[in-house]
Amino acid sequence: MSANSSSALTENYGNPELEFERGKGSYLFTSSGEKYLDFTMGIAVNSLGHCHPALVDALTAQANKLWHTSNLFRIGQGEKLARKLTELCFAEKVFFCNSGSEAIECGFKMIRRHFFLKGQANKNRIISMEQSFHGRTLAAISAAKNPLHTEGFLLDSDAGFDQAVLGDVESLKAAISENTAAVIIEPVQGEGGITVATKEYLNAARELCDKHGILLMFDEVQCGVGRTGSFYAHQQMGVEPDIMASAKGLGGGFPIAACLAKEFVASSLTLGSHGSTFGGNPLGMSVGNAVVGELTREGFLQRVVASGEYFREQLEQIQVKYPEHIDRISGLGLMIGVYCKTDAAELLTKLKAEKLLLVKAGANSVRILPALNVSYEEIDSALSIMDQVLSQL
Ligand SMILES: *Cc1c(COP(=O)(O)O)cnc(C)c1O
Repeated sequence: MSANSSSALTENYGNPELEFERGKGSYLFTSSGEKYLDFTMGIAVNSLGHCHPALVDALTAQANKLWHTSNLFRIGQGEKLARKLTELCFAEKVFFCNSGSEAIECGFKMIRRHFFLKGQANKNRIISMEQSFHGRTLAAISAAKNPLHTEGFLLDSDAGFDQAVLGDVESLKAAISENTAAVIIEPVQGEGGITVATKEYLNAARELCDKHGILLMFDEVQCGVGRTGSFYAHQQMGVEPDIMASAKGLGGGFPIAACLAKEFVASSLTLGSHGSTFGGNPLGMSVGNAVVGELTREGFLQRVVASGEYFREQLEQIQVKYPEHIDRISGLGLMIGVYCKTDAAELLTKLKAEKLLLVKAGANSVRILPALNVSYEEIDSALSIMDQVLSQL
């Protein structure tokens, strides 16, 4: 029986055919031994590649000791990871959860409650950016306003979110009202197509927020945790948020997420006001500590910068070679976008047939999200497969 036609799974993922049995570093293997070069990395999740020994060790060591106790009890591994994250960025407090959407929800809740506790409950609206993506929960789809994601799901056309155009300061100004509580921005957009916000724009947004007493939240679920060459992407843009969602790469493949914030906002989560059963569990926290341990090794992020620059330079040359198929290359570090003139989905299918895996993104683009420790040989292999496939289009 075909695994797909009679699947008991919901249909929302389109029943993919390809299945893998194991992974090692940048490669995935099927049960029949076929080898694929994986530059999707679980959509920017497996930050250190598949089955990195340090992560396997951390997970198995913890699995043999203790899996889950709930937040009724102190969790040392979580306190350690929270401390480490606050040392690595603007944040003073951390709430752990299990997915990017949950980290976004936590941020939105902190924002609303911050103003509520200040006696300004009317300041409750949040401005998001067009073409943004913040996850699939009701609040996250309400914020991003992508009709493909909202249709049939929302009761009210106004769920408390307004929108502005990324990079356009005037449109942000125009979206601000006396009810605006916060602005949420992905410093590098992922799902909508890889779009890097400029330093100038983010600084202008920060200034506007400060001027109007509005909070600034960053969504670094995809672009954070080393992906762009700094631990968090905004750190190379000279702007700090008040709140930030982090997930995907943080667990290296184990589902963990974090909402990070300055104390003055995080303090709105008073005793009993928020929680998560699985959030911050010992297994996930142990892996998170191992991920952060690897990423903060001497020279690790510099290597991400260098390999990202090399990769994008080589892709620019491919663009010049095939201008009829490739429009332009975008990105930062190892978060790379290839905007296509040819059909991006079709290109992905052809690359997959040649054993290279990439991810589709918005605006007819393809995302390249290799492991952060990808080798130059692996990058060269991907480039040569792309060159070959493009030459045959
Ligand atoms: C993936 C993603 C999310 C949602 O994360 P989930 O773990 O799927 O809930 C939110 N924001 C951005 C920018 C993402 O890329």
